[in-house]
Amino acid sequence: MHLDIDHEPGRVGVTLRPGEGEPDSRKVGLVRHTASFFVEIPPGDVHPDLLVLSAVLCARPWIRRRTPITCSVPGSALLARALRGGPGLRLDSVDPQLEPRARPASGSPGLCFSGGTDSVATLAVMPDRTRSYHLLRRAPAGERRATMLNTRAARQSCAVVRRHGRQVDVVTSDVEYLREVMGFPHDFTTAVPLLLHADRDQLDAVAWGAPLEATYRLQRGYYRDFADSPFVGEWGGVFAAVGLDVCVPVAGVSEVVTSRIVHAHALGEAAQSCVRGRRLGRPCGRCAKCARKTLLAGAVTGRWPTAEALERQWRGEEPRAHLLADPIKVEPVVAHTVHRYLAAGGDSTLLRLVAEKTGPDPLEWLERSYEPALELVPEGYRDEVAARLHRIAPPMTRAQEQTVRAYDVRALDRTRAQARLEEWFAGHPPQDLARRAVGRARRVARARLRRTFSRG
Ligand SMILES: [Zn+2]
Repeated sequence: MHLDIDHEPGRVGVTLRPGEGEPDSRKVGLVRHTASFFVEIPPGDVHPDLLVLSAVLCARPWIRRRTPITCSVPGSALLARALRGGPGLRLDSVDPQLEPRARPASGSPGLCFSGGTDSVATLAVMPDRTRSYHLLRRAPAGERRATMLNTRAARQSCAVVRRHGRQVDVVTSDVEYLREVMGFPHDFTTAVPLLLHADRDQLDAVAWGAPLEATYRLQRGYYRDFADSPFVGEWGGVFAAVGLDVCVPVAGVSEVVTSRIVHAHALGEAAQSCVRGRRLGRPCGRCAKCARKTLLAGAVTGRWPTAEALERQWRGEEPRAHLLADPIKVEPVVAHTVHRYLAAGGDSTLLRLVAEKTGPDPLEWLERSYEPALELVPEGYRDEVAARLHRIAPPMTRAQEQTVRAYDVRALDRTRAQARLEEWFAGHPPQDLARRAVGRARRVARARLRRTFSRG
């Protein structure tokens, strides 16, 4: 893969020129070849390694390990070694004279900020001088693909964080349009805005809002040590090569705790995980994330919607697919919140069936902090982060930590419970189909009307 990096006033552009056997589109198709990031950093003020790493994080899914990467901006020998050792990529454009980026002596941490609950909770437990960077989607000129996602809530979330006196930089970009199925090419593409500002803002750490379930992959149904996570095993050395320590402050706590942090903290009004809602404070209410947030809100506040309201939400097309998946994504959280609901006297038949599928609630540890995860916070920030976390989530006992490591739902036989759940859903189809059909008919009619007028 050849990467053309073009830093001009107001914009950093990355153009992908696939090499031998590329683009590797086994995972996802490549439909555009240029991505732009709109930044006010003057050309020449970003360390070459930061530019090279940014470009690699845009192109990663389409690079074949066997095919060397060349780049219009050469990187340092240290970066090339780190790319080889971690993700196994061959960077051929190396400037042996180039000094790697040094970690600033008295720097600040940066956060890849999404506006979701986990992201806001992360900001809340980090030092006050933490700076946030948000990657905001913007369609390239002439783009015909439409999206259901709405960026207004995320923009408002950034504005709220700013109102609380925190630094936020919003970088607009069309990088999500490179893929055939739109989205970030790589999990760490969201770090590009931070990388481009790392020199201006003297950053010494790159943080993400990944909770326990994501960091240790419990959401896949079993535990995996963080040493094997992409934060550490694959990319930790690469970020270190550009003077940034990886920092995952909420790695030891579940979504139940991040919801609690957001509920308790002034910054919490900035949090909205739904990416479809029309604005902050107005999630769509129909996606799986919204349905899960209803359960989390119940578990955190102790106030639950009626069984009818809960079931109406979970009957929707996406939420039902979420509960029917095996394992359920973020299953420990679903299991725990459903058991809380039942313990509080809730009488939804559906949620009783979900509890049957997930088994008993062994999950008191979900309200606590898994201490080994603090190793994912750079030493200089660790005490402060730990103190803020422990205010909401006390440390787990050794036995509870062991339960986390032993977590595995793959061995459970739940054929019967799954069948009963499927049966319930078959008898309870989504209720909003009629309303959606009306909405669609109205949009078609409006478009027809517009065409008629524009012709006349
Ligand atoms: Zn939603």
